[in-house]
Amino acid sequence: MGMTMTQKILAAHAGLDSVTAGQLIEAKLDVVMANDITGPMALPIFRQMADKVFDKDKVVLVPDHFTPNKDIKSAINSRSIQDFAKEQGLKWYLVQGKCGVEHAILPEYGIVVAGECIIGADSHTCTYGALGAFSTGVGTTDIATGMATGELWFKVPSAIKFVLTGKPGPYVSGKDVIIHIIGKIGVDGALYKSMEFVGDGIANLTMDDRFTMANMAIEAGAKNGIFIVDDQTRAYMDAHSDKQYTAYEPDEDAQYDQIVEIDLSEVRPTVAFPHLPGNAKTIDEVEAMEPIKIDQVVIGSCTNGRISDMRKAAAILKGHTVHPDVRVMVVPATQEVYKECIKEGLVDIFIDAGCAFNTPSCGPCMGGHMGVMAPGEKCVSTTNRNFVGRMGDVESLIYLASPEVAAASAIAGYIANPEKVGDK
Ligand code: SF4
Repeated sequence: MGMTMTQKILAAHAGLDSVTAGQLIEAKLDVVMANDITGPMALPIFRQMADKVFDKDKVVLVPDHFTPNKDIKSAINSRSIQDFAKEQGLKWYLVQGKCGVEHAILPEYGIVVAGECIIGADSHTCTYGALGAFSTGVGTTDIATGMATGELWFKVPSAIKFVLTGKPGPYVSGKDVIIHIIGKIGVDGALYKSMEFVGDGIANLTMDDRFTMANMAIEAGAKNGIFIVDDQTRAYMDAHSDKQYTAYEPDEDAQYDQIVEIDLSEVRPTVAFPHLPGNAKTIDEVEAMEPIKIDQVVIGSCTNGRISDMRKAAAILKGHTVHPDVRVMVVPATQEVYKECIKEGLVDIFIDAGCAFNTPSCGPCMGGHMGVMAPGEKCVSTTNRNFVGRMGDVESLIYLASPEVAAASAIAGYIANPEKVGDK
């Protein structure tokens, strides 16, 4: 029987000729990653199993959630993984000049490439599927096991095939496409399945679009999201990594639970209303409602904190002023993005418009710091989750959107259509 892309990667890493959905396998790991929340929890478990990590070049630690350390507890947590990284001689402990949000920084540093089997103690580890890797989030016990042995068991997932055709219109990006998809299949629509993205429309999605979409596969309950490797993927990996990679394609007779066709030209700017990423409404539906006044805008995160996101937001904000009732936090995902924003004059645009421009961090995305919300406040955010209390008080409300919708809303003071503000 034919295999999906994910199944081929898992078979190769399990040393098997083929695998089928539901099969339990033991797979070798190429990258094992943890952050400043999950790393400290994994270390005591790791210590019960081993003295040394299985490979000091393949275990990656990224303090990003509460960094720069927001309080004593977060300082102690960061300290523990810093000490561990030094003790073990890890190649990748990403702080200071290399700091940033884990899922933006690993591809940027070329740590992850196509065909790899990657685990991270963070649910949005599925991001690296944009490169054609199998990449999934696991718990701290599994990450400790991976750090110690370089292997982990998996139940081979079945898959949904998403056939993308057409070209997205202006102001439509990967964020709109993935919110549209989750709205269509539901937040449990891909439960423990692979979301496999194929079709000639992929050529019309940038790598940043693909990272955003793979990042949010978990918001449909997926085990992983994965894109076919094309010339753009190869160019990205060639520019960022010297690792060898393998591009897997699904077999023609691969079995899928469902096939979903998406014409990208029909996707509109789309917003996910509280309190689920699947509560999708097009900007046209939003405009037909009473204006939804907002108190805060966040532009950043592992979903939309890359340079193209910064450019899109800045293009909308240029020459405008943020509404006086709205706080705007712009948080580049990595130091490289931060530097590029300075070089291209984007920081001036953001600050002149009235935004706060912050150091790379997860920060406001999970209510950590730099933008925690009060009861009743509403936020348009380019992040990936709008669960109850995700960014602050349980009575605050989060609307997920693209950087362009977020920037247009920052100017208007309510959720706004970028087509009416932008310069295109
Ligand atoms: Fe998680 Fe948000 Fe950080 Fe991404 S930016 S890793 S979703 S907390």
